[in-house]
Amino acid sequence: MLKDQDRIFTNIYGLKDKSLKGAMARGHWDGTKQIIEKGRDWIIDEMKASGLRGRGGAGFPTGMKWSFMPKQNDGRPHYLVVNADESEPGTCKDREILRHDPHTLIEGCVIAGFAMGAHTAYIYVRGEYMREREALQAAIDECYDAGLLGKNNKNGHDFDIYVHHGAGAYICGEETALIESLEGKKGQPRLKPPFPANMGLYGCPTTVNNVESIAVAPTILRRGASWFAGIGRPNNVGTKLFMVSGHVNKPCTFEDALGLTFKELIDYHCGGIRGGWDNLLAVIPGGASCPIVKGEEMQNAIMDFDGMRDVKSSFGTGGMIVMDKSTDVIKAIWRIAAFFKHESCGQCTPCREGTGWMMRVLERMVTGHAQKREIDMLFSVTKQIEGHTICALGDAAAWPVQALIRNFRPEIEKRIDQYTHKSTSEGAVLEAAE
Ligand code: NAD
Ligand code: SF4
Repeated sequence: MLKDQDRIFTNIYGLKDKSLKGAMARGHWDGTKQIIEKGRDWIIDEMKASGLRGRGGAGFPTGMKWSFMPKQNDGRPHYLVVNADESEPGTCKDREILRHDPHTLIEGCVIAGFAMGAHTAYIYVRGEYMREREALQAAIDECYDAGLLGKNNKNGHDFDIYVHHGAGAYICGEETALIESLEGKKGQPRLKPPFPANMGLYGCPTTVNNVESIAVAPTILRRGASWFAGIGRPNNVGTKLFMVSGHVNKPCTFEDALGLTFKELIDYHCGGIRGGWDNLLAVIPGGASCPIVKGEEMQNAIMDFDGMRDVKSSFGTGGMIVMDKSTDVIKAIWRIAAFFKHESCGQCTPCREGTGWMMRVLERMVTGHAQKREIDMLFSVTKQIEGHTICALGDAAAWPVQALIRNFRPEIEKRIDQYTHKSTSEGAVLEAAE
């Protein structure tokens, strides 16, 4: 397990002073100017060497993303955009940073902004996160008062941060929809490429990073890339905020090392599975878009990017949704399908039509009012959505359904078998067998 001295988030439970004074006493804002004085190239090289992979869900290498920002000045301003539109079901870690440790993010913005030649950051906060936005704004105001932000600040790099409050659309967490929304337009994803580093906010070079990815950067640069890279295992390094909801004895958000097994994390932080490990049915490991994994496969799987690939799922945000044997797993995936249908922006036909189609078929599977041949038909619909849409929401909607069929086909068939199909003069009527 992670040693106390290796924790980056020292106030994740909100038990300590979150003000600037308290954050400084816990080691934040220490030597920020000296880090900046080492230059853009040093910072980016160090971030690359640290092996940090984006913490928003996709796991794209952070240092590499920063390096995509143009080095030559072509007259366009550069922007840092922080994605705090945390909306993936099962995911609630950035909320804790905004509420209790906002200075980690603000210091991170100053350093990351300098590294990418930006003088402005926009932090796009999820619409429902009102208290979080207030806490963040209060911390930003403190920094202006203390001369850590604004023109001629103590860090030696002019920098402003603006907080933008979203209005409750999940799709605005997709980076290009977020940019559209920031520009005052309807939040709909753009086709990529061009990627934001070339053509982002207002057509200018932009990097969009998750809250956690930016918030960990100052500590990595203070302690050194090799410290961070030494935690975990190759390709899966560092510390991570994990979230656990559902049927564990103590649902919570915590920081730990990558490279530990699901069982180790759940026993240590969450007091085990409700009713014991034999009662574990399944887990969605990294937020709703990650394929569901059967309990017995998940138990000893390693909770990191490669570990979750080994069990045919993905690590996503590290937000684990745990289901015990009392769960109606078909209904759970139907509920997720309903979520994605509701949040589809409607631009692409496969996503707009397919999400509704999947939800309606699953609805009948929940009650058993479906036919067995529809299981394969449903699977083929997911394949027509996957990879055929503008943004990842289409894939995110298809994967949970595919995994349900892959892992729980007998349960769907059993549910259908519990009903008999009778014909009447009015047409086909489906009735419970019992
Ligand atoms: P993605 O893989 O398309 O991109 C990830 C990041 O890398 C983006 O910033 C993108 O611009 C950059 N990138 C990728 N390839 C690039 C290239 N060739 N050149 C330059 N930049 C490149 O994934 P995505 O659509 O941004 O995110 C999908 C993930 O988001 C899902 O895995 C899901 O887990 C996660 N998600 C998280 C939340 C949340 O609340 N945190 C919500 C919804 C989805
Ligand atoms: Fe919109 Fe869905 Fe297409 Fe994404 S995949 S752009 S959410 S319709």
